[in-house]
Order: sequence, then C-alpha cells, then structure tokens
Amino acid sequence: MSFQSLGLRAELIRAVSEKGYSVPTPIQRQAIPPILEGRDIMAGAQTGTGKTAGFTLPLLQRLISTDKPTTGKPGKNRRTIRALVLTPTRELAAQVSESVQTYGKYLPLKSAVIFGGVKISPQIQKLRNGVDILVATPGRLLDHVDQNTVNLSTVDILVLDEADRMLDMGFIRDIRKLLARLPRQKQTLFFSATFSNEIKQLANELLTSPVLIEVAQRNAAADRVTQIVHPVDRHRKRELLSYLIGSKNWKQVLVFTRTKHGADRLSEQLTHDGIKAAAIHGNKSQGARTKALADFKAGKARVLVATDIAARGLDINQLPHVVNYELPNTPEDYIHRIGRTGRAGNEGEAMSLVCVDELKLLQDIERLLKRDISRVVINDFEPDLSIKPEPINRGRGRQQQAARKPAAKPVGKNATSARNNSAQNNQRSSFKGRSNNQGRSQNRARHNAQGAR
Ligand code: AMP
Repeated sequence: MSFQSLGLRAELIRAVSEKGYSVPTPIQRQAIPPILEGRDIMAGAQTGTGKTAGFTLPLLQRLISTDKPTTGKPGKNRRTIRALVLTPTRELAAQVSESVQTYGKYLPLKSAVIFGGVKISPQIQKLRNGVDILVATPGRLLDHVDQNTVNLSTVDILVLDEADRMLDMGFIRDIRKLLARLPRQKQTLFFSATFSNEIKQLANELLTSPVLIEVAQRNAAADRVTQIVHPVDRHRKRELLSYLIGSKNWKQVLVFTRTKHGADRLSEQLTHDGIKAAAIHGNKSQGARTKALADFKAGKARVLVATDIAARGLDINQLPHVVNYELPNTPEDYIHRIGRTGRAGNEGEAMSLVCVDELKLLQDIERLLKRDISRVVINDFEPDLSIKPEPINRGRGRQQQAARKPAAKPVGKNATSARNNSAQNNQRSSFKGRSNNQGRSQNRARHNAQGAR
C-alpha cells in the first residue's frame, strides 16, 4: 500500500517522500480515503500513530481541489479561513502547523497558527493578510473571536485534535462558543484517544454519519514500549534517576513530574548533578517552552522534565527513554506519557520510579493496562519497606491533598537485587492489590481493637 494508491496528489506525495515516508500508517490508510470523499470521521487514535498526516494530507487536497482563493470581501483579493484545526496545547498547535507547512509546501495555500502566551498583534496581522488553514488552541482563538479579528463563518473543514484532552483541560465551553461561530454545513474530523460519555455526546452533536476509525486499542502504544517499574524510596528518586542516566549513558530522556514546581526543582537538581536538563510546563513563557524543547531536540539538554499538560502532543522523533519520576494522577495520563516513546513503529523504554506512596496509582495503571508491569529493583536502591506511605502532592489545593487517603502499606520481604527473582516477586506482590486488602484489613483490625478498649 502506497500514498499514491490512497488517491493523493503528486504535490503531496512529493512532500511526504521528502519526509522519508513511503508506507502509510494504518490510520492514514483508513482516514485518508473517506476524508477525500468529504465524509465526517470519528477516529480513535492517539499520538504516535501518524494521525496528523492522516488528516493534514487529505485536508490540503480538499482545499486545493475546491480552491476559491479570492472569496474574501467583495473587491478584495483575500483568502478566507476554510479549514480550522483545534488542538488542546500550544505545542501541539505548533507541531500540527509545522506539518501543514511541510506537507503543503508544494501547494499554494496559506496557513497560520495562533495560541496564547505570545503577543496577539502579529497574529491579528497574519489573519488580516488572509489564511486558508488556521491551527489554534481554543482560548486564544476565542479572544480573536471576541475582538472580531477572525471570521470563522467560511470554515468548510473542522478538525478537533485530541478532543478528550481538550475536554480534560476544561475547554468545553470555549469549544462550544467557537462551534457556534462555524457554519452548520461543514466536514468534521474528530480525533480522540479515549471515548468517555462526554466525548461521545460531543461527537454525536458534531458529526453527520461519520466513518468510524479505530486503529488501535488505547493501550496499543503501551504494547510497543518496554515498561519497567523501579521500586525506590521517595527521597532517593533523584539519586536513582541520575544513576540510571549516567550508568546507562542515556542521551535523550523525557522525565515526567506531577507538578510544575517539581519539574523546575528536578531540572535544577539534575543540572547540579552535571546532567544538563530543561523544564517545560504551563508556568513557563511560550518563549521558554519553545527554547527548552528546541534545546532538547538539538541534544543541548539531555533531559527534558515535563508536566503532563506541557508534554501533550510533543512530537520528538524516536525518543528512546521516558521516565515517570512520579506516577500521574490518572492512569490514562500514564498511557499518554509512555506514548512519547516507541512512536511510529520504533521501540521504546518507559521506566517508572515508584515509591510506597504511589502504590494505589500503580494499581490503577495496571488495571487499565490489564497486566502487571515488571519490577526491577536496582542494587543499592532497594526500598526500605518500613517507610510508611504519605499522601501524594497532587500539585493542587491543600484540601485535596488532605482528603486523599494514603496508599496501603506494602507487605512482603525486602527485595535485594535486580537479579534476584524471588526478591522481585516479593516486591511485586507488595505493589499489588493484595497489599491494599491487607492494609484495609489491618486498619479494620486496629479499628476493632480500639473499639474494644
Ligand atoms: P502523529 O501521530 O501524527 O503525532 O505522528 C507520529 C510520528 O510519526 C511523527 O513523527 C510523524 O512525522 C511520523 N509519521 C507520520 N506518518 C508516517 C509514515 N507514514 N511513516 C513513518 N512515520 C510517519
């Protein structure tokens, strides 16, 4: 199967070949033909599957084949926005826009990207000059709508990329306001990694007889990635991370923390340890985020420390290692995180440094994956099983932290060596549901004893 056989124009094929792609990915094979036919699609696909080219290529072709480049104000030779791509994050918007430019380089179409965190006036100027394709994050686009600096009434094709993330990030009201500005009659391409009831409802409202595309189970990326849990004490995680990076000579590692503050602190500590690191999170200016990502891609920083939201949609080719310095609050984020490695057919490795506080989170992840993740205890970093779990700092309000129940205390003997299987098994059992039940029954026993006194 080739890109030619999907019915794409020579200009697009040329741009794709220059990127070095000769075989379409499954999502591209399934999405391109119906999009070319003008159908709505609802695709269950996460990043790493090649979905961006999957909608960008046919979108460009549709625009060029139905070209009406001078349909601006009467008498003015101005382009109007005919395709709108909404993405949850600035980084993803920038990456999609880059793809639009790469794949559209041999076509006479103009595109622009707009997102928050940067000056609005250059964006206004760009919009005024006229664009065919607009890639945007919902918040800043709404600012433009409110200021009347953008006209969405001529949009023929709407793409909602990572719709689930947009909802998770609280964009639903912004999205609804934007949808109200779009024509009713249009082609809609809906992409989401997961399909909650809320997502299904939004899709139902937006799509007309969509072609349903499901390229992979949502944990399929997880299947390509070697996953390992390194049990470790909470206060020794940084030391273990530096040890792993140094001893394994990792050149490019994406490390996830739960909080922005944690990301900054870890990046400073690693740099202090002689490992060049940069942090990327929502409190950083757009300039600082772009620079951190560019330094990481160029190999100037060996480690990029990121929070979940900042890392959404980051496309770093062939990223070999992802480390969960702290497990995420929701198991779906774990899938998203490890999806940064093992992309588009490459092998990847995802390591999680897990302390006793995170056993419940680990259990939730394994339930979603429907399998256990193997434990490897690193010599000299064996966890001290007498340490009691503490509530997790979720990076939100104090009240929420206080309300969270501590995870169950692990049981089982200490594990002593990476090569010691029985020790690993003990560690594994201590990290599974069984320990939770035991914790509960211990609590109950304590409670009963108190009552008897
Ligand atoms: P995406 O899921 O759109 O984020 O794409 C994941 C990665 O796969 C990106 O680095 C793309 O450039 C790359 N990619 C897209 N299409 C192909 C293809 N047909 N063959 C190989 N790699 C591709």
